[in-house]
Amino acid sequence: MTSARSILPDDTADEVRPVRTDFLAFAPPALGEEEIAEVADTLRSDWITTGPKTSRFEREFAARLGAPGALALNSCTAGLHTALVTGGIGRGDEVITSTLTFAASANVAEHVGARPVLVDVEPDTLQMDPERVRAAVTPKTRAIVVVHYAGHPADLDAIGAIAAEHRLLMVEDAAHALPARYRGRMIGSGTNPTAFSFYATKNMTTGEGGMLTGDPAFLRRARTVSLHGMSRDGWNRYAEGGHWFYEIEMPGFKYNMTDIQASLGLCQLRKLEGFQRRRREVVAAYHEAFAGEDALELPVERNDVEHAWHLYVLRLRPGVLAIDRGRFIEEMTRRRIGTSVHFIPLHLHPYYRDTYGYGPGQFPVAQSNYERMLSLPLHPGLSDGDVADVITAVRDIVRRYRR
Ligand SMILES: *Cc1c(COP(=O)(O)O)cnc(C)c1O
Repeated sequence: MTSARSILPDDTADEVRPVRTDFLAFAPPALGEEEIAEVADTLRSDWITTGPKTSRFEREFAARLGAPGALALNSCTAGLHTALVTGGIGRGDEVITSTLTFAASANVAEHVGARPVLVDVEPDTLQMDPERVRAAVTPKTRAIVVVHYAGHPADLDAIGAIAAEHRLLMVEDAAHALPARYRGRMIGSGTNPTAFSFYATKNMTTGEGGMLTGDPAFLRRARTVSLHGMSRDGWNRYAEGGHWFYEIEMPGFKYNMTDIQASLGLCQLRKLEGFQRRRREVVAAYHEAFAGEDALELPVERNDVEHAWHLYVLRLRPGVLAIDRGRFIEEMTRRRIGTSVHFIPLHLHPYYRDTYGYGPGQFPVAQSNYERMLSLPLHPGLSDGDVADVITAVRDIVRRYRR
């Protein structure tokens, strides 16, 4: 019997068999009974919003990173936005960031009335290229949002030197970089504002949530910005010894973390080291399995960094396979393996493309890598069998569709 599909030139006689019976999710959260018990404890207490557990989470998070201070918020996006507002970035200013990132890194510049200026990435690590950053600086530039893409730290010394030379605020988007090290320094241990994400798919989660680390004096002002602009007296006014009086110092935002979220965060933080150990084991297995495949370019880890391995981004080498990245992902799905793409470069999205007149050839490194990349499942819940299934699926597709 001939089906419509069998006449496609790249189809093969034997049916594709899924490598497993259930679909392997790309990045499910790793929550256990400890988290459930801690949330229940909070729900049975009289304090469900920002309170003692949020304070403890801030202290323990700062201690884990060696950060000078930490401010718990309801997202990483809130952290980035709060940092720009606190840093005085506003109308008429320019904020440099990577085009190969999630929209939040640039959207927050729009939210303060500034113009996000996108730059291209380095071909090996896919991090913001310091030379492109330097070339993008104008008299209007006021800040750089440095993205640690996939969990591999960006070249902070090179970008930091540009920021220092031009007196720019350097904010780090560390949504992927928990925990990561650059030249021996933990990401988030410095004085520049650094925003982490506890979104459901990130290296640890609070459902939704984020943390801003940095200089304690900056964070004191950021705390006010992040909670209606209320003076310090205001936010804990319901505690014993709290006082009814507060003042609005500026029209702030509503970005506080709840103790329900912090309950998850406290448990996840304790598990982080184990999570990372498992992530590195999975990465080692993928590296070993794919090292000999000329069709695949593997993610790199430079000598002077410690990668957080939030993402394992494979790149298809041009010309080796008869199928493109889109078809490769479809073939992974047919084999019941979940994958994703990180990211569609921002300059290709209608808002940024049309507002700033970006063309498709504008950032050739980000663009050409985007077109051939896919992210494989990488999370601490993967069993050895799951990892073997991913490897089998990738190898099978490479074998079938080699030119
Ligand atoms: C997830 C993510 C964010 C946003 O994090 P939220 O906590 O969801 O606000 C920002 N930047 C990057 C690079 C991300 O991947």
